[in-house]
Amino acid sequence: MRSLVISSLCFLSGLSSLVSGASVPRYFERQPTTRQNLTSQEVRQELGSQISPGTLIYGPDDAEFANLTSRWNDFSKPDVRVVIEPAAESDVSTIVKYCNDNSIDFLAVGGGHGLTYSLKKFSGLQISMRQLNNITIQESGKSAWFGGGTVVGPVIQYLYDRGYVTTTGGCECVGMLGAGLGGGHGRYEGFYGLISDNILQLRVVLADGSAIVVSNSSHSDLFWAMRGAGHNFGIVTSYEMNIFPVGPKTWHWHNYIWRGEQLETVFGALNAFHNNGSTPVNMAFEAGNFLMDTSITSEEPVLFWTFAYRGPADEAEKLLAPFNAIDAVSSTMGDVPYSQIATVQGTSWDSPICQHGLLHVTSTVFLQVFNVTTERQIFEGFKRRAQSSPALAAGSSIMHEGYSTEAVDKIDPASSAYPFRGDHHLNLFNAVAPSPDYEAEARAWAAEVRDQWMAGQPGRKLDAYVNYASGMETAPDWYGHESWRIERLKSLKAKYDPYNRFRYYNPIIAA
Ligand SMILES: Cc1cc2nc3c(=O)[nH]c(=O)nc-3n(C[C@H](O)[C@H](O)[C@H](O)COP(=O)(O)OP(=O)(O)OC[C@H]3O[C@@H](n4cnc5c(N)ncnc54)[C@H](O)[C@@H]3O)c2cc1C
Repeated sequence: MRSLVISSLCFLSGLSSLVSGASVPRYFERQPTTRQNLTSQEVRQELGSQISPGTLIYGPDDAEFANLTSRWNDFSKPDVRVVIEPAAESDVSTIVKYCNDNSIDFLAVGGGHGLTYSLKKFSGLQISMRQLNNITIQESGKSAWFGGGTVVGPVIQYLYDRGYVTTTGGCECVGMLGAGLGGGHGRYEGFYGLISDNILQLRVVLADGSAIVVSNSSHSDLFWAMRGAGHNFGIVTSYEMNIFPVGPKTWHWHNYIWRGEQLETVFGALNAFHNNGSTPVNMAFEAGNFLMDTSITSEEPVLFWTFAYRGPADEAEKLLAPFNAIDAVSSTMGDVPYSQIATVQGTSWDSPICQHGLLHVTSTVFLQVFNVTTERQIFEGFKRRAQSSPALAAGSSIMHEGYSTEAVDKIDPASSAYPFRGDHHLNLFNAVAPSPDYEAEARAWAAEVRDQWMAGQPGRKLDAYVNYASGMETAPDWYGHESWRIERLKSLKAKYDPYNRFRYYNPIIAA
């Protein structure tokens, strides 16, 4: 931090001698603060003539403002005064420069699913990427260009309709870049890696408003950082990614509901099935939740599990035999085209998990294997809440994800800022508070579950996937515990964002 301050001051003194007589843009003030009483009328007057005709500016009185600022997690809602929706990539530079000249903080928004508490510290102008949603498949059929505001669901559908797939998040409602700049886990990662592993180049607007291309051959140091810690470095206006042929006609899915008494058998079977990171690659994704289903019982949660296999039922069901042998309350299955797998697994646009406007309290831990004793303790904790706090328990879930990870594991961990290739199970505690009054209770529960997961893997540090993190962790928990990772990220911050303009999404350097 000290070296950052010194270099900033050196830069400042050099600049003021260069422009002697001219006023120093407010961007170069060390702590930019949001201009008081920023209004959409002012922004329209001051910026309107500089931006392209389709660019839209909204204030709180405009009908669309509520829609554009709605969030998945209302507990971490940024304070947005004005929203601008750029119509062209070049507008993003213009907007950032305008913000810098006027001491206005800015925040890029894609799908609005960023859940971290650090977003709550933001106050200023939202750059809504929604209109930058073009997709252009390249002639080679090996890559496509995507707009900086593309969202998972439309990307899957657009490519699928033309015979292609790519790595995406599993949930259709999530922004491709919100997810991809931090890694991006999804059903194709066992085959091709994370979203970030398939990015070939990015067009990025830096903190000073300049637009650059970032790739292995252009600003390669930043390319390393953008793939894992990208939210901290710039606004991506478009990006090129690998795409792949669509693959088998159908995916097989199988959903189970088990009662709590089966927990030990289920987790024993899961550990054998995943065998510490060697899941058969076609067994692309399974996710399981402890959640309340009062049509089955109001005494305790049930275990809801869903499996997705890339290929036919007979192949899948051979692998699922250990789960079929566990006595289930319900067991349903089918075969669908890839473009519909999110619907049957409960991760599509209209599924409850995608709903905006709720009060979430979360915690997360990455695991290598499940500790069955720990899972029993966590289940019993949920069961106690079902009795003592049924309203809080009703909306809560404790999620355990297991992807096939072959392609993720094959990539050199040092080749990008994504730090956790050795982990296999993404776990998320996710309470929905019925009202703000429940926040303290939900937070205590979130901490309890996180501590239980950690106690169940002694000797390992907290690996908190940056995109699932609640914001209550530390920078090494998000960006890796090897000290060289944080050092490298800090020196890249000094180079590309010396005034820490990008500090609202799990910041490398806290404000
Ligand atoms: C319901 C749900 C499902 C999820 N499913 C998955 C999943 O399947 N796989 C997975 O890996 N993660 C998943 N996540 C986590 C998800 O990756 C993060 O929450 C991510 O931040 C969401 O991105 P967004 O664009 O939707 O959110 P936003 O809040 O719009 O964006 C999050 C942050 O990303 C940055 N950002 C967004 N767009 C840009 C851009 N164009 N340029 C630069 N920075 C930008 C900004 O810093 C912004 O604050 C899920 C989260 C939720 C809530």
